Amino acid sequence: MNTQDINRRIRLVMDLRRKGIGDARVLGAMERVPRDEFVPAAVKDQAWDDMALPIGRGQTISQPYVVAAMTEALQLSDRDKVLEIGTGCGYQTAILAKLCRRVYTIERHKILLSRAEKMFEKLGLRNITAIAADGMLGWPKINGISQAPFDKIIVTAAAREKPPRALLDQLKIGGAMIIPVGPSGDQWLKLYKKESDEAYSVRDLMPVRFVPLLPDIASDSEGEAA
Ligand code: SAH
Repeated sequence: MNTQDINRRIRLVMDLRRKGIGDARVLGAMERVPRDEFVPAAVKDQAWDDMALPIGRGQTISQPYVVAAMTEALQLSDRDKVLEIGTGCGYQTAILAKLCRRVYTIERHKILLSRAEKMFEKLGLRNITAIAADGMLGWPKINGISQAPFDKIIVTAAAREKPPRALLDQLKIGGAMIIPVGPSGDQWLKLYKKESDEAYSVRDLMPVRFVPLLPDIASDSEGEAA
């Protein structure tokens, strides 16, 4: 790592701190995970700035502040089993993987998923299981084995009206789920806590802009031009 790279990382962490991120473990993960390696070459120069960037197929890597705020709100412990919907380039997944026991992550674009998996391999992150599927249906049984319930769930694409039922069902009682909800232009980041099989508390955290949650696995050509 050269001096310029170290300085950029430190500047981002100071920026996040100033914007209100106080959790030292989250800040440490944001400093260590190389965001510049997750973004396309054309935008590498901006990788350490606090802004969202394009990652292909019309999708975006979230702004670092939003990644840090969502991660902090989940209050992860190193015993937690976490479900993530919307792997994208895998940056948020890598941050989670540093702070919990295991991450199960789902992406509907196969090409984005395979690029993300290569990054996990390259960075030596071994506590991630990634699949291509429709995450609105929750984590599927694989060879008859179910992974639910999860201690925490994080959704990085927006639900139009409310969180998918399957995701609330796969959350452990006492667990928390963070998800953007609302139509384009009017989305709020919401934190759900599951109090019993029927009861949830909900807190609005902040207004956000995410791409929408979409059904089914994407066709190989969907979003190709973007
Ligand atoms: N956390 C990502 C952000 C990616 S943007 C990152 O750090 O890069 C949101 C992602 O959610 C997109 O890649 C999009 O393809 C994916 N997505 C949208 N609907 C989905 C669904 N139903 N299941 C799985 N992934 C979905």
